[in-house]
Amino acid sequence: MSLDRRDLLVASTAALAAPTLVAAAAAPAAAAVPFSGRQAPGFYRFRLGEFEVTIINDGYNRRHNPGEGFVRNADRSAVEAALARAFLPTGHLDITYNIPVVNTGREVILFDAGTGGLLAATAGTMWDNLAAAGIAPEAVTKIVFTHFHGDHVSGLVTREGTARFANAELIVPQAEWAFWMGDRAPQQPAAMAKSRFAPYPPERIRRVASDAEVLPGVRGVPTPGHTPGHTSWLVTSADASLLVLGDVTNHPAINVRNPGWHIVFDMDPVAAEATRRRLFDRLAADRTLIAGYHWPFPGLGHVRKEGEGYEMVPREWSSAV
Ligand SMILES: [Zn+2]
Repeated sequence: MSLDRRDLLVASTAALAAPTLVAAAAAPAAAAVPFSGRQAPGFYRFRLGEFEVTIINDGYNRRHNPGEGFVRNADRSAVEAALARAFLPTGHLDITYNIPVVNTGREVILFDAGTGGLLAATAGTMWDNLAAAGIAPEAVTKIVFTHFHGDHVSGLVTREGTARFANAELIVPQAEWAFWMGDRAPQQPAAMAKSRFAPYPPERIRRVASDAEVLPGVRGVPTPGHTPGHTSWLVTSADASLLVLGDVTNHPAINVRNPGWHIVFDMDPVAAEATRRRLFDRLAADRTLIAGYHWPFPGLGHVRKEGEGYEMVPREWSSAV
């Protein structure tokens, strides 16, 4: 049903003719259910072969004025046009955090550890959402990392700097570890990364090659560029697979659509672009399901080739696991 302009004119003329009626209609109704103002719990579950996957939302961070300084090699009008094309506001961009949890039946594996509530007031919902999903931090047996930026490692610790995960082994790409724990990384983010791993005893931190199979059904895919040791993870069970992307892209409207755009957080933007194009060609051809850390919740979908870039196609929500 639609209201055309003539209907609207008729309606407003009628309203002018009957002011008392309008006043009565505008009076607030006493709703039986008050406004909540809170989003529903942010977790989403699906079956991957023999595994069960739960995507846990950790909130978002709002970046104001994304046309300026967010993409290094595109001007304001191009960035704002890309946002408008996706029906997004141009004055800000909400960057989501999604943490995949894979239950293999033997292991409960987190991929990255979220912001921990330490980075932005609008982020850090992962604790409530893990609880809502019925997953206690003590039940997590492995945490596999894509890279060591603050929004991926801060959930390892409490505000007081103690370990959040009592029983988890931490599986880290060796190249990423060597870079951030060495003396050539930028000082402030390196200090943050070190502080997040510090409360964990060395014997609980396993350093691995970026192309290693680190657990049955979990194999590394080297995706350097965003950071030197950035690693995506291919999770396979029976005939199903999921690629845990990490930060090969940020928001899909930005650099899935425009793979040549260099996000300010990409440490080696040229390598990051080469990685992005090579990986997405393969994921599009193989029709692989992808979990994007910064994609809109639950951040699940496919990519297809579209003109000069790619299009992210969200996976449909299903009430069936
Ligand atoms: Zn990130």
